[in-house]
Amino acid sequence: MASYEELRGKVAIVTGAGRGIGRAIALRLALEGVRVVVTDVDRAGAEAVADEIARNGGKAIALKVDVTRQNDIDAMITRTANEFGELNILVNNAGIAAVALLMDTDEQTWDRVMAVNAKGVLLCSKAAAKQMIKQGKGGRIIINASASGKVVPGKNAPLGAYSASKHAVVALTKQLGLELAAHQILVNCVCPGIVDTPFWDLVDRETAALEGVPPGSVKARAVARIPLQRIEKPEDIANVVAFLASDDASYITADAVNVAGGLLPY
Ligand code: NAD
Repeated sequence: MASYEELRGKVAIVTGAGRGIGRAIALRLALEGVRVVVTDVDRAGAEAVADEIARNGGKAIALKVDVTRQNDIDAMITRTANEFGELNILVNNAGIAAVALLMDTDEQTWDRVMAVNAKGVLLCSKAAAKQMIKQGKGGRIIINASASGKVVPGKNAPLGAYSASKHAVVALTKQLGLELAAHQILVNCVCPGIVDTPFWDLVDRETAALEGVPPGSVKARAVARIPLQRIEKPEDIANVVAFLASDDASYITADAVNVAGGLLPY
């Protein structure tokens, strides 16, 4: 595992960090000496991860933040600046799935998926970028998009609204990266494939119920398609996020980086 000395003492916010990939990212950044603001709509999850970081000798605070709520986001930025003095890295990780064919997707479900996965990224990124511009030292904004932000899952899983939201996120990454480049704020997203978290357990369970096949079989089918022949671990993504936060990635911006075991054609 690479180590990035320059990250020591930096300050990062990670959204949706109470479990899954966000947790792995928070732990990895803390291992690099980053002071981490662990945020999640699930307060207990965020607190457990912040405690884990503290037990490992790192520095973290936990905040309950719903990424769809401007008030929560404003409080997140203010609290970060008050607690740690500045903000250097934002990791937009929070996201939700909705399992349904598009033809069966109601307006409420569509709005919720778009609100958390796409609008949440915009609102958090804008607030963080304003703080970074004020500081005048550049920064990093890293977004957890998805392989579904580049290709649609088709018959593999009924994730149409989710895929649309992640396509929006990839476009947002590219445009925001260009808008913020002159401020030396680098904006990139990662596109993971099939990751072993509660998220995919839900996709498996609900897709299996729709198809009338046994639980576990949808996940097994998806994993069988991965060229690297294993399910992705949250740490596979955390490693790339640490790289994108580091000086080694200082010439990468407005890009969407695949971390998908060969699943993506581009
Ligand atoms: P997860 O469901 O295990 O964790 C998501 C976390 O986000 C949870 O802690 C949840 O409480 C939090 N969250 C949900 N809504 C929120 C909101 N409104 N505000 C703040 N936090 C909220 O999922 P995961 O697999 O760890 O996914 C993390 C990210 O990775 C998501 O954006 C997801 O779309 C993306 N992703 C996941 C996979 C996968 O296979 N698991 C693949 C590609 C991309």
